[in-house]
Amino acid sequence: MNVKEILNNLETKHPGEKEYLQAVHEVLESIENIYNENPQYASAKIIERLVEPDRVFTFRISWVDDNGEVQVNLGHRIQFNNAIGPYKGGIRLHPSVNLSILKFLGFEQIFKNALTTLPMGGAKGGSDFNPKGKSDAEIMRFCQAFMLELWRVIGPNTDVPAGDIGTGGREIGFMYGMYKKLQQENTGVFTGKGLNWGGSLIRPEATGFGGTYFTKEMLDTQNDNFKGKTVTLSGFGNVTWGVALKVTELGGKVVTISGPDGYVYDEKGLDADKIDYLLALRASNNDIVSPYVQEFPEAKFYPGEKPWSVKCDIAMPCATQNELNGEDAQKLVDNGVKYVSEVSNMGCTPDAIEVFHKNKILFAPGKAVNAGGVAVSGLEMSQNAMKLNWPMEEVDSKLHQIMTSIHTACIKYGTEPDGYVNYVKGANIAGFIKVADAMMDQGVV
Ligand code: NDP
Repeated sequence: MNVKEILNNLETKHPGEKEYLQAVHEVLESIENIYNENPQYASAKIIERLVEPDRVFTFRISWVDDNGEVQVNLGHRIQFNNAIGPYKGGIRLHPSVNLSILKFLGFEQIFKNALTTLPMGGAKGGSDFNPKGKSDAEIMRFCQAFMLELWRVIGPNTDVPAGDIGTGGREIGFMYGMYKKLQQENTGVFTGKGLNWGGSLIRPEATGFGGTYFTKEMLDTQNDNFKGKTVTLSGFGNVTWGVALKVTELGGKVVTISGPDGYVYDEKGLDADKIDYLLALRASNNDIVSPYVQEFPEAKFYPGEKPWSVKCDIAMPCATQNELNGEDAQKLVDNGVKYVSEVSNMGCTPDAIEVFHKNKILFAPGKAVNAGGVAVSGLEMSQNAMKLNWPMEEVDSKLHQIMTSIHTACIKYGTEPDGYVNYVKGANIAGFIKVADAMMDQGVV
């Protein structure tokens, strides 16, 4: 079958799984030529085997809330591909979670993990549980109930979960505590652990720092840098925080953050105090950004809007999938954006990417830009295996090296004849070749 036939087949088999089909479509489109030039991939049915997860677990989670009422949620774990290492990928806790979203995230994770140069396969998991507004005790009871099912299928050499939207240090702690109790061993089966029980320095900052290092490499290709650049960010979660810290440190001016209630525009830019305030706001279980303008009245709040109409040099979506569409992309281009660096997973819709490519704006996809998070998770696994803790400088320097090497791989496979770098193509081809060759070496399994 050729790539188009494989895609048509998949659409028939999985109707309605739109995020998953969107992610597969983007990858297959980029690798079509490489696939056609290497007939051994077709005869081993590499794509047909890659696009379907190795296995999917779905389970019911029952727990009791603070009012004594029984609550029921659905949990999933997608073990997508382990050709280059144990399954590895985060756990998303958000009411929007469904199989299509987790399959898209697991599929993307295969290539992202391959790009890091570390031995990790692709996986993803999660639940439609909404952590917003829940007490610590409710979060603990949910996480423990989630683990009562998940523990059977994970392990330090089989499948290593981590955080994602809605799953931070607190949730990892509760899940890991229950895993240990059931498994009766203390192994590095989760990453994103607390520092005094096996976690790695820099892990909380890694996705944002890594994304900023990658963007710095993009700027370097144009003999440019962050100094004095206006940067728009979306979200105000873990990733936005790390990006805001590093961009500010490198001399850029972050002028927007956003939440489900709208976006805040701060012409003066975020500074350390404002970033600390945001962290405190977020830690208080607050999901809205509007209180920012009461604390810092020089800023302005735009209810119900996205930050992409703000004039900037660099835009970095940091919240969730499909948060920047074609119309938003056109506004950014009209306002003179030079670089778009997607830090969220599949943050831009296909028509947005088309607008950037058509206008020769340098655009880098999430699987390359945000790979720093899982890269430091890989480093956490190495430290756990060696029973060592590396100092901050060592982890940060390894993260920096990994992001530079991902950028180099994108340049190698994504440079067009006219010199323009198509980072989507570069990242997809580099990730695909590594995984496909590993699958070829290991026979039909
Ligand atoms: P957080 O939960 O810390 O923050 C997510 C932010 O996005 C919040 O502001 C949240 O608002 C908003 N958001 C989440 N879901 C939706 C939605 N469906 N619609 C609108 N807004 C939404 O998550 P992270 O910062 O960890 O993750 C952000 C992105 O980065 C995601 O795409 C994630 O997959 C990706 N990523 C994260 C990594 C990590 O290490 N954490 C690693 C690699 C990628 P609200 O809470 O109010 O919904």
